[in-house]
Amino acid sequence: MIGFNRVLKTLSVYFMASVWIGSWGFFAVDEVSASITHILETNGTQISSVLKPGYVMHEKNGVKFMIKRETAEALGVVTLDMECDSPEFWDNIEYGVDLETLEFVVDFNNLNYRDYKIQNLYVVTEPYSPDAADWNHSTKGFEFHNFTKTLVPHNNDIAKVRLPLNKSNFASLEKTYPLDIKIEATSTGTSTPVACVKEEVSRIPVEKFADFANMEPFFADGIFQPYDIESLQVEAYGEDAFIEKFMEYQDLRKSGQDLPSLEAALALLGKNLIFEPSNEGDFKWEDQPVSYKLLRNKKTVIGLYGDVVKSDLEDVNKMIQVLHVVAPGLDISYSSETKDVTLPIHFTQCKDKLGKHIGCKTEGFVGVYFTSYKDYVWVDSSKRGDYRSHIIIHEIGHALGLGHNLCWTSAMTYEFEGPQVPYLSHIDLMQLQILYHPDLTPTSKSYKPAKRSLGRQEVINKLGLSEERVSYYEDNIEEACYQKPGAYDYLIDMQIGKK
Ligand SMILES: [Zn+2]
Repeated sequence: MIGFNRVLKTLSVYFMASVWIGSWGFFAVDEVSASITHILETNGTQISSVLKPGYVMHEKNGVKFMIKRETAEALGVVTLDMECDSPEFWDNIEYGVDLETLEFVVDFNNLNYRDYKIQNLYVVTEPYSPDAADWNHSTKGFEFHNFTKTLVPHNNDIAKVRLPLNKSNFASLEKTYPLDIKIEATSTGTSTPVACVKEEVSRIPVEKFADFANMEPFFADGIFQPYDIESLQVEAYGEDAFIEKFMEYQDLRKSGQDLPSLEAALALLGKNLIFEPSNEGDFKWEDQPVSYKLLRNKKTVIGLYGDVVKSDLEDVNKMIQVLHVVAPGLDISYSSETKDVTLPIHFTQCKDKLGKHIGCKTEGFVGVYFTSYKDYVWVDSSKRGDYRSHIIIHEIGHALGLGHNLCWTSAMTYEFEGPQVPYLSHIDLMQLQILYHPDLTPTSKSYKPAKRSLGRQEVINKLGLSEERVSYYEDNIEEACYQKPGAYDYLIDMQIGKK
């Protein structure tokens, strides 16, 4: 049993860390409302916050904000009932985590939380202090899936909720970490949920990781080609059928050998576009020699995790197919088993503590490739349609070595006014054609065995490019976008489904 004082103490701690701004009393109601509207627009509508003692919740035009009780009374505004912290309820229920079964158990003692202005009761799990700890350097992003929030049912006197915790078994590398278990209640009577009680319940020690479920990549039959599935049982597929498909694969990899390499693409590979607003514009080009590129020299096996939908697999499959043609020097495939995966792609929403941990909430991004030794991708799973496909293609593009540009139709564009291109465009394909050209071998300077780098001069010599034209595009980098050799057209059709 947990006393009410502890609840209050927890409330104020959470308030400090929440997105709400203090000193409401200085603002007129409409100003407060406007600033909160702004917060909701920039952070999405997933905000949940905790009501601070002495404050009341006011809702106007569907927007909620906290306001000091005296201010509310002085202004005569209507406030929402936020009484879900009733001591009668909280002092009489008992709850905890059963470490044997990894279940969160609540004994309601014949009380129904719906009678105490609680709309929903959740059990929340959060990796303990992920940003301060060093374990997150080797988790490959799998800890994202241990930020969970599960509804506790109200119709049983004793409710048991299995905590949906995972371990990845990723190349035996994953570090373990303690997990904090919290309880969260949201209040009735508001159009969007507002948490009005949050409380720490307990901590799950690292030793319990052994009991978590192993996380495997999302998989669906009939999407990937058999030669692209890392863990495929060839016998089960049929040996003859597999060999036939494998011959198709070899033809696919040969089919791109006459694709032209273009000077414009090499020039773009040697530049990096930085977001740096100034009088001259928001972006700045910076030299970043192609020899600095960290290319994927070893087998790349993708695995999709989290809130994955079938179309995500289809997007990845289309990308893999076109890469076989344009980048035969790249060994890329998919697996349904984590043990094979080298490039995990995590799909989660950007909210609450997880949003902070990923950085998407503070920095406002919808996808990210964590570079270097981290080498994994995160995608905001609340996005849909072409935008979602664009994010997936864009981030895998980074993982393959592509940088940003300002080309209107590129998957790698920073031109936010432009279309959200859901495939690799001409200029993207041309860069990959150079990066993974089978005639180019890695230089010995590569400091990581899994990566390789190329030299500008080597590319020019071996691919027969004009140094003069490369220099021209380096000096006039914006012109690089307009190169659209017809020989690449069919690769666009391949991705958008035209025959
Ligand atoms: Zn990017």
